[in-house]
Amino acid sequence: MEQNTRIGFIGLGIMGQPMARNLLEAGYALTVWNRSQPGIDALVKDGATEGASPKDVAERSNIVITIVGDAPDVEQVALGDDGIIEGAHDGLIHIDMTTQSPSVTRQIAERYAQAGIELIDAPVSGGERGAIDGTLSIMTGGKREVFERCQSVFDAMGKTIVYCGLSGSGQVVKLCNQVVVGLNNLAMSEALVLAAKAGVAPATMIEAVRAGAGSSWALQNLAPRILDGDFAPGFKIAHQQKDLRLALELADQSHTPLPGTALVHQLFSALEADGMSEEGTQALVKALEKLAGVSLRE
Ligand code: NAP
Repeated sequence: MEQNTRIGFIGLGIMGQPMARNLLEAGYALTVWNRSQPGIDALVKDGATEGASPKDVAERSNIVITIVGDAPDVEQVALGDDGIIEGAHDGLIHIDMTTQSPSVTRQIAERYAQAGIELIDAPVSGGERGAIDGTLSIMTGGKREVFERCQSVFDAMGKTIVYCGLSGSGQVVKLCNQVVVGLNNLAMSEALVLAAKAGVAPATMIEAVRAGAGSSWALQNLAPRILDGDFAPGFKIAHQQKDLRLALELADQSHTPLPGTALVHQLFSALEADGMSEEGTQALVKALEKLAGVSLRE
């Protein structure tokens, strides 16, 4: 794809806004659409054009990128009223960067095939920071030659871009990533609670462990925020639960036992029952604090 490629961007939330901004900074002409207006206004201020609907965005673009919530949201913007499919034209590529179901991805790809649209699944890892810095890991699935045509667009948003296989393969790899993320979060949370209960300051434990074999992204990034009492979402519990549900569904379909993932999913369910769905995933520690009868911030 050339630098004069016209890109459409749908879904201007925590991730979508900075990703769209990086495309503008790379020199791409961008048409944006979002369900609510504030996300649109922010990008228009930075030089994007406002689209009227996903259909309109598709009509004006060679590549449409989506990063919305879950599978039903992707189905709605892709196949619903005024959806991308209604704006189909020669050479249109839809890159879906939402974390969603591999099987729904394949179903949309099949519907698109009849309309002449190519679908690439390209979920991301690296969080809000990676989206802002343009250093996301991007896991892609779909036809290799279509993926290769989009390489420079991916380069504007990410650093590690891996072609994983046919349609849905990027989503499978992303769900593997979420298994690791969920269990690292649990391990970090258990270590914080154990340090506190056993009489060592959690901050001291973090300082000693963060450079060694027990280190993780969670320990380096989430643990200090926990000690600061900062539970604002980079990545919200509602989305993590969606990802763990998708991973457990995939595990069920492929007869793969995932006992650790199931446990993390249950602990997050307890937090959701307590009204914490919109908190960041670092709030997992609150479930452990409750079980252990300790507070890390007292
Ligand atoms: P977010 O802040 O909630 O943003 C989601 C965006 O999608 C919002 O702009 C929302 O519109 C739009 N949207 C949702 N449902 C829609 C629908 N049915 N129709 C049209 N637009 C819809 O979420 P996020 O944190 O950016 O995450 C987006 C995706 O990236 C999720 O799949 C998430 O799992 C994945 N992800 C997130 C992170 C992270 O650290 N945040 C990291 C990796 C992957 P409104 O503005 O109207 O609500």
